[in-house]
Amino acid sequence: MRYIKIKGTEEKIPIGNIVCAGRNYADHAKELGNEVPDRPALFIKPVSSVIQSGEKVVHPNYSTNLHHEVELVLLIGKNVRHANDAQAEEAIKAYGIGLDMTLRDLQSQARKEGNPWFISKGFDTSAVLSEFVLKGNYKLTLDETITLSVNGVLRQNEKLNKLLFGPVKLVKYISSLITLEEGDIVFTGTPAGVGKVIPGDKIKGEISGIASVETEIISE
Ligand code: ZN
Repeated sequence: MRYIKIKGTEEKIPIGNIVCAGRNYADHAKELGNEVPDRPALFIKPVSSVIQSGEKVVHPNYSTNLHHEVELVLLIGKNVRHANDAQAEEAIKAYGIGLDMTLRDLQSQARKEGNPWFISKGFDTSAVLSEFVLKGNYKLTLDETITLSVNGVLRQNEKLNKLLFGPVKLVKYISSLITLEEGDIVFTGTPAGVGKVIPGDKIKGEISGIASVETEIISE
């Protein structure tokens, strides 16, 4: 079983569904040649894809274009369906930062063929998670900066207020379609600056004031 670790406590929360938003920053949608949508694309990563910060991402041998995506991640603390603003806010228990590692070549091929993104987004070690900060211990303003560097070189750098659907709006939207349950996590989408990484590369992501996430890419 995979767990969320809560910072400063021994608490470990079993992870349920991993719901992810795509194209939730305008500049990132454009860099991949997509229209800026009126709502984010949604997909699921399997729980088996999760590793903790400090563990290594294994580059699958069936891809030649592994990309990093750094994202604010929400932990859902209670079941919610058809949430209003207040219920959506209340359903968010904690914040963390995650890497939504993506096989861009397989994703492009899937898009072309009209197939699901499953393998491109769901391979082993494709979800790297930080420790999470309880909402009671941190007030998110969206003025925070999210960054990612590879081997010390900054590649992604954006304010969270550039999210098209911020945390509350995103939880509301997802809960209009399915029940979000206690223990589910929500990847909120990545800003511009995604790019290729290869074995040996070291990745560090950070949201100022919340948490950081680190990994290294290794060969299969
Ligand atoms: Zn993503």
